[in-house]
Amino acid sequence: MVSSVHLLFTYTCLFECDHCFLYCSPSSKGTFTYQQMVKVFNDLKKIDTLSFVYFEGGEPFLYYAQMVEGLKMVQKLGVKTGIVTNGYWATSVADAELWLQPLIELGISDISISDDLFHYGEEQENLAKNAYQAAKNLSLPGDTICINKPTITDKKEQEKGAPVIGGGVMFRGRATETLTEGLPTKHWSEFLECPYEDLKNPKRVHLDAYGHVHICQGLSMGNIGKTPLSILAKEYDGTSHPICGPLLKGGPAQLARENNLFTDEEFIDHCHACFIARKALLDKFPEVLAPRQVYGLK
Ligand code: SF4
Repeated sequence: MVSSVHLLFTYTCLFECDHCFLYCSPSSKGTFTYQQMVKVFNDLKKIDTLSFVYFEGGEPFLYYAQMVEGLKMVQKLGVKTGIVTNGYWATSVADAELWLQPLIELGISDISISDDLFHYGEEQENLAKNAYQAAKNLSLPGDTICINKPTITDKKEQEKGAPVIGGGVMFRGRATETLTEGLPTKHWSEFLECPYEDLKNPKRVHLDAYGHVHICQGLSMGNIGKTPLSILAKEYDGTSHPICGPLLKGGPAQLARENNLFTDEEFIDHCHACFIARKALLDKFPEVLAPRQVYGLK
């Protein structure tokens, strides 16, 4: 049963990073309103296994007032809460403390700050460092998330068990267009499992302002506009889901096989094969492969 709900609070972001799972950008739409949150939080009360609600994006601090209201609702629920941010608001350490203090009073217990060259480049001031320092000064538990450009790992390191491709990029979302060049690939039929998500019994889901309940980015359990999350989570059966079923049976290769998708295509890893297969199936399964914008489409 679901124990953590990650609100994709907004798809809007000041940045347009090459590695973004969700194709977020300054022009991306889809932000929670106050009224939507009231509805969602009323329903979340019914999930007794719930222990964490995260605010993520996009960049949730862009809608600070609504985020504060959301945090108040989490406080009433009595579960833990955290935020994922790129720290664009941390113009100095002292200023960053001003942004964080009210959130700490509202009980946030974790902050994850994206701190890498994808976000800030080499010439731009790295504001994530100020945000991290401010969190430390205020004893707010948190960490930085650092993703680097993909590189092919040295043979010796590979022999010691290091991944073939270093840097930590997941080949989903925009990375499938921007970061794949020159990387080694394998035939699609070799990707026989989903290595990262618990598709059978998801404990963590992401919920966006369009109502989609993502098991993985762009792979939806259903829409809360039709069925409340508390019921969707209870009734979800991965084996009968049109996308998760094949993925559980035999990974992206099985999904492609069942839908006659590929012939000689090669991919970097499981997620790359899965994402491209799902993108090809958007029109066939529009209810569970959504929203189109997280596939880089209109
Ligand atoms: S992209 Fe596919 S293979 Fe990768 S974690 Fe998501 S569901 Fe699993």
